[in-house]
Amino acid sequence: MERFIEIAPCSRFYVVAPHDRKTGSHFFARRSHFYVVAPRDRKTGSPFSPGALIFTWSRRMIEKPVPTFSPGAPGAGPAEPGRDCPLCPRLVAYRAENAAAHPDWFNGPAPSFGDPDARLLIVGLAPGRMGANRTGRPFTGDYAGVLLYETLIDLGLAVGTYQARHDDGLALRGVMITNAVRCAPPGNRPEPAEERACRPFLQARIGQLPRLRAILTLGDVAHRNVLAALGVKRAQAPFGHGAMAQVGDYWLTASYHCSRLNTNTGRLTAGMFADVMGAAKQAAGL
Ligand code: SF4
Repeated sequence: MERFIEIAPCSRFYVVAPHDRKTGSHFFARRSHFYVVAPRDRKTGSPFSPGALIFTWSRRMIEKPVPTFSPGAPGAGPAEPGRDCPLCPRLVAYRAENAAAHPDWFNGPAPSFGDPDARLLIVGLAPGRMGANRTGRPFTGDYAGVLLYETLIDLGLAVGTYQARHDDGLALRGVMITNAVRCAPPGNRPEPAEERACRPFLQARIGQLPRLRAILTLGDVAHRNVLAALGVKRAQAPFGHGAMAQVGDYWLTASYHCSRLNTNTGRLTAGMFADVMGAAKQAAGL
């Protein structure tokens, strides 16, 4: 095993750099990546506990700390859009189309769901037409919610039984779930202008969780929207399943989206999802 040196100690994680065999130096290594080993073993303090997850972290992120996001303007507005938010004409038309065909569905901006004292915020892309657009709760009613909520229950981050409806009594513990775009887009694909239009709500959502310590992004589009909401360039925290980075005051963890497509193709397994959710839980101090 390579030798490592701790270069950025903190209470929960080791941030370590590989030893450069040629120069004998840790700090002038030519490699472009350091490694973050998480979590720190609670008993021994070692990062090399069995099953520890290893994430890459770019050297630049360590040498140039990312500016701290302060929850002020533009994140000081409403964290939840109004029921008839008019800002995205295409999505407003899609809401109306769905409301005409299915007046018993929710057909509005899906509100965030979870604990107002959340330490972990989970961010998805947008409501599915048959999911949150129908039921009114994020990730509820379509396949992605099954894996998400059952994993949260297994990790003790939710109590109750997930029954794919908004009034199933499920309660989140220390966790909130939201979407980067609050209205269902046709084909599950929001346009860049719609992502930008909805971003103030995401910024406000992040800024108005006073105990927030960690954010888990589900999929590349959610990840890039969170980075944009925090005012951080993508290169500073590139997306990759299991990638973890400290962005200002928050630990940011990325995961493949828990969609049926990803699980059916084996890109994401239940075990992989539990591991990355566990890492986000640790980062949040839950
Ligand atoms: S996606 Fe967001 S900004 Fe656009 S209409 Fe819906 S709530 Fe408003």
